Amino acid sequence: MISVAEARRVLAELPVAPQPAERVPFDRCVDRVLADALHAPFAQPRADHAAMDGYALRAADIVTAREDAPVRLRVVGVSAAGRPCGARVEPGTCAQVMTGALIPEGADTVLIVEKTAGFADDVAEIRGSSPEGANIRRRGEELAEGAALLPAGARIGPAELSTITTFGVAEVAVRRRPRIALFGTGDELREPGEALGPGDVYNSNLHVLAAVARGLGAEVTYSGMVRDDPAEVARFLGGALAENDVVCASGGVSMGRFDYVRDVLLEDLELAELFWKVAQRPGKPLFVARREGERSSGLFFGLPGNPVSTLTCFVAYVAPWLHRLLGVAPPSRLRLRLTAPFSRPKSKHRFLFGVAELGDDGALVASPTARLGSHMASAALAANVLLEAPAGDGPLPAGSAIDATPLPWAPFRLSSSSGASAERA
Ligand code: AMP
Ligand code: MG
Repeated sequence: MISVAEARRVLAELPVAPQPAERVPFDRCVDRVLADALHAPFAQPRADHAAMDGYALRAADIVTAREDAPVRLRVVGVSAAGRPCGARVEPGTCAQVMTGALIPEGADTVLIVEKTAGFADDVAEIRGSSPEGANIRRRGEELAEGAALLPAGARIGPAELSTITTFGVAEVAVRRRPRIALFGTGDELREPGEALGPGDVYNSNLHVLAAVARGLGAEVTYSGMVRDDPAEVARFLGGALAENDVVCASGGVSMGRFDYVRDVLLEDLELAELFWKVAQRPGKPLFVARREGERSSGLFFGLPGNPVSTLTCFVAYVAPWLHRLLGVAPPSRLRLRLTAPFSRPKSKHRFLFGVAELGDDGALVASPTARLGSHMASAALAANVLLEAPAGDGPLPAGSAIDATPLPWAPFRLSSSSGASAERA
């Protein structure tokens, strides 16, 4: 049995070749991970343009203009967005400009139309002044040509998509999704919709893991049962390991059964065991092996079947591995103040789902779930962090600091504890 810290170190020290890049059209890149840094192909804005509707003119021509003492300027053209005006603004003249339109040559300010008698075709009546440079957005004022826009490893969301489309990037180089196969072998497992016999339970784990894996950016190539027979399991695993970057077994791997999946992997398929059994609760029987000679692919995770064990091990061990394959930064671990005691065994690292929220003093606090059993899947409801503490004598008292990792699927909404408990009730 190894410690949680050792298990993490073994995985962290495995060399990883990041997923190869592939090009996808810009309208299909959301939720993907950028493979290469993106730089501005042109300055933004590309050219000086109007920030308001009005007249482009020379500030010096209208310094005296007032409501009761208007200045009249000859209109030499119209510049609309996408339809620049060819004429030059000479002293004593002006051009109509609309928001987004290029500033005609010769003009040095834009006077908003509200300070005039309105848009006129021949002579504009100017009823106010406008300092030089007013209402003009300058070329490159936001970003210079070549400026860094997005780093490699950025996960593409709406804000990144805005940048990608603003700069007209039609195809984006993203990391190929890691391929993951998920399987279970329990005889008692039925699918939702099927009738339950005595002792049967529904297969929830594989569906949950598939959802979490997809959310992390993986492609789930298989999620289902494999017939409980060594030859069948060997055949399935042989194919799955060749075709996937990660294979996870969940449930149907009780100690007896686990030994046999493990034997198939280590003896028939000649995988190398990285570790088996970790001093943790839940999830002690966790088993991890890899295909020899592979740089990054072919990692096998045998996750214990109890729903909380499966999900905890996936969050604590598989998710960081997927992050590495994708080249994305994992979520930072937080140190939060406990609102309640955190129960932990003497000799095992303890993981528990918890809720991080704003305490009365405005600082983040963490409440562990009260459902301590590894079969109590509802412990994950409302949780937004995975809390963890090393083995110790007696519970960590309320008020002490605890490590908390944001859950990959739970939006980290910061509500106050009173508001959040009302929502949870
Ligand atoms: P095992 O790892 O096979 O000893 O399973 C431990 C517990 O987890 C047993 O009560 C199983 O019925 C349950 N279990 C195993 N696989 C699943 C699954 N896919 N969905 C829900 N529960 C499961
Ligand atoms: Mg089982």
